[in-house]
Amino acid sequence: MTKRDAILDGTQAAQRLHAALGTRKAIESGAQNRIDVFRVAMDRGALLLFRPLKGLLGAYLGQPNFPRSGIIVSTQRDLHVQRFTAAHELGHMTMNHAPSLDGEEIGLWRGESSDPQEVEADAFASEFLLPRWLYIHHASRQQWAKRELSRPDIVYQMSLRLGASYDATCWGLQGHGIVDRSVADKLRAYEPKELKNEALRGRGKLANPWADVWVISEADTGLTFEGSPDDIVIFRCKERAAAGYLWDEAPLREGGFELLVDTREIFSGDEIGAAVTRVIVARVPVARHYEVSLQERRPWQPEEPATQLNVAFDLLGKEQGLPRFAREMMAAA
Ligand SMILES: [Zn+2]
Repeated sequence: MTKRDAILDGTQAAQRLHAALGTRKAIESGAQNRIDVFRVAMDRGALLLFRPLKGLLGAYLGQPNFPRSGIIVSTQRDLHVQRFTAAHELGHMTMNHAPSLDGEEIGLWRGESSDPQEVEADAFASEFLLPRWLYIHHASRQQWAKRELSRPDIVYQMSLRLGASYDATCWGLQGHGIVDRSVADKLRAYEPKELKNEALRGRGKLANPWADVWVISEADTGLTFEGSPDDIVIFRCKERAAAGYLWDEAPLREGGFELLVDTREIFSGDEIGAAVTRVIVARVPVARHYEVSLQERRPWQPEEPATQLNVAFDLLGKEQGLPRFAREMMAAA
């Protein structure tokens, strides 16, 4: 089997699984918010556990040595790596591979492995977590065209919405032919750390280098985001202040957010008047689920909001032990 064949096999296996699960339809209709690889792995019959693993990112255990499929994912890496590793192991399971112990060599389109089974599992994971249609889905929601998708700050925000690392997101953009290789090379030259600092512009400090900076706008309404409790969330919303419309920030505090900065950026210049962007920088004190419903309205007409922004955040960080959804199911039973 050539490497090219292995990539094609893995990609097609992921596409078949998504087709069987109806993932694309569920996400495009808004019924589902993200690709929940942990849930899919367990629904397909795997026993999935997150454990400290020395020198390994994950492992797939199954026939012939083990009676039942098992997936173990390291707790020593962040949620993005956990998701990719679980998808890689799900690939081994879906394609009836032999048991596999996976170290740092697994990855996206990098082609570091020459073992066809590993190439297949990597191609499966890439296509399963980062299908072309998911990029298109988020890009069209945000009105990000090709020009925007060559900007590192935008690609970083895309990566957060995809639930993947910045690096993986760049490889996906290139692999799907959304940007040219030269553009992808330039994007990859940026470190996520720089992009986080650029988004913050000194308006907050990250508690740890793995924490992310979310930039949320009206275009995100209806979405649920998955991050860590150390993340910083920046709401950037257009405010028609000249017409008397203001965003009411009170529901953020009521929803449990701590507000670090609340300011307005004003760009004057055209005849219509100054464009105002309301910028609120917030973070959360504890790891949990958060829901926010913000309205832009005239203080004297509170019943008639001009714009609404409804978003939810699962700021729970990486997984440990059993996957959270499974623990919740057991607690509810
Ligand atoms: Zn593997």
